[in-house]
Amino acid sequence: MQITSEIEKRRTFGIISHPDAGKTTLTEKLLLFGGAIQSAGAVKSNKIKMHARSDWMEIEKQRGISVATSVMGFDYDGIKINLLDTPGHQDFAEDTYRTLTAVDSVIMVIDCVKGVEIQTEKLMEVCRMRNTPVICFINKLDREGRDPYELLDEIEEKLSIKVRPLSWPIGMGKGFKGVYSLFDSSLRLFKPSKSKLEEGLHITDLSDSRIDEAVGERDAEQLREDVELIEGVYPEFSVDDYLKGEVAPVFFGSAVNNFGVKELLDCFIRFAPKPRPRETDVRLIEPSEKDFSGFIFKIHANMDPNHRNRIAFVRVCSGKFERGQNYYHVRTDKKIRFSSATMFMAQDKEMVDEAWPGDIVGLYDTGNLKIGDTISQGEKGVFKGIPSFSPEIFKEVINKDAMKTKQLEKGLNQLMEEGVAQLFTYEIGSRKVVGTVGVLQFEVIQYRLKHEYGASCDFVSMNLYKACWIHSKDQKKLKEFVNSKYRHIARDKDGKLVFMAESKSWLTMVQDNFPEIEFHFTSEF
Ligand code: GDP
Repeated sequence: MQITSEIEKRRTFGIISHPDAGKTTLTEKLLLFGGAIQSAGAVKSNKIKMHARSDWMEIEKQRGISVATSVMGFDYDGIKINLLDTPGHQDFAEDTYRTLTAVDSVIMVIDCVKGVEIQTEKLMEVCRMRNTPVICFINKLDREGRDPYELLDEIEEKLSIKVRPLSWPIGMGKGFKGVYSLFDSSLRLFKPSKSKLEEGLHITDLSDSRIDEAVGERDAEQLREDVELIEGVYPEFSVDDYLKGEVAPVFFGSAVNNFGVKELLDCFIRFAPKPRPRETDVRLIEPSEKDFSGFIFKIHANMDPNHRNRIAFVRVCSGKFERGQNYYHVRTDKKIRFSSATMFMAQDKEMVDEAWPGDIVGLYDTGNLKIGDTISQGEKGVFKGIPSFSPEIFKEVINKDAMKTKQLEKGLNQLMEEGVAQLFTYEIGSRKVVGTVGVLQFEVIQYRLKHEYGASCDFVSMNLYKACWIHSKDQKKLKEFVNSKYRHIARDKDGKLVFMAESKSWLTMVQDNFPEIEFHFTSEF
């Protein structure tokens, strides 16, 4: 069956890191291996640069780059790899969280000088929610970094995941000599190089004197000790535990020098999961099912304000997607025909006629689609696991132009559907509150409302800690709670009940007083 072989050869993943750890650099090296680009420097960072804050056209341009590099497809060793890009800037973290719902595994880049950083921790939390398999790449070994054992301990502690080194560095910084692969017992000597790859030294026995010749007696001895220690301390690498998201294999290298990257990639295609079954609210969907199904995890507005075209990114979950077909849009209970689907290859978009599980398809949309929507061949189940996360910054929307109320409402709704931010509407007074992860979004919203919808608004800061989605098995208790806290109750975009907590301590108190009520920081639980 064609579908089985198509699934077998697909790997869909994302690279995550704290900004500056080397995500863009690693992406570029992977694309070089895949032959998707020919030279270094071809991949543009999707970082929204803060110095460009006031220059909105510049930000729009940068957003354009991020759409072009949203999904990069390339082939390596007979495997079709889809690499989903995630915004590095933390103000766009929610976009990253959602992208992680569409991947089957991740590679996490950690800077060996800085270790585990705050954004790494947050991203790992999202991976843990879905038991996403994680491979760690400890980067920048050409710099004087922290002790490798210390780094491994820090990963285990701060990211709450067990680690298993599959490669080991010999020296570091100026004394960095190379990496020994515990995985296939080969030694690769470090030579700074932008793209060329040196052949490794294949060793079957660590006592081989060629190691001493290559790295010097002292380092060779150290390596033997290290390897013995690692093999003694860490249990044997279990692919199953990795696939369950319980153990992260760890690689060391230097992305900018293209060192240690091939080992990572070779291991990745061997172990990383192929497209996995996915849960809807009705049943588990196997990728090999005949009927097409998929969900939307990202929507990107077109940059031409005269055309309110958007691109919706669909992750194919099962069956074969075919261009020009009528598909069923579950939320609106309607058939939609997608005549211009695109797929993303490296930096070009190209028209596609068909796509398979694990692929990402870009659909042109004029405002029908929303993040989280399911598209199928008639089946009504909705894919789970595309939650909203509680924002961290809240501001009330004040309409500045009463003549443009309709435009403001429409603009806000559409921007929220794209996932730029979240809108909460208070039960009393219908006050509208926009919640975001970073401050930058408020400026983006104001700018886009004005330029795309002709509406203007002010934002007034609100002193809120978190939005908590509330739930109770006891409907009467839930009603009582809502009545007693009615001034703090709002609805999210889907009409779900949300408790707007003003402070952490207050929330704890309320939780103590209402033990029958569940408080969740994500919309899906
Ligand atoms: P991102 O923010 O995670 O995408 O990080 P980038 O890939 O843009 O890298 C941030 C900086 O680290 C850039 O100046 C890179 O050249 C540099 N960098 C990346 N990999 C390495 C490495 O292996 N060694 C050193 N010394 N610098 C690196």
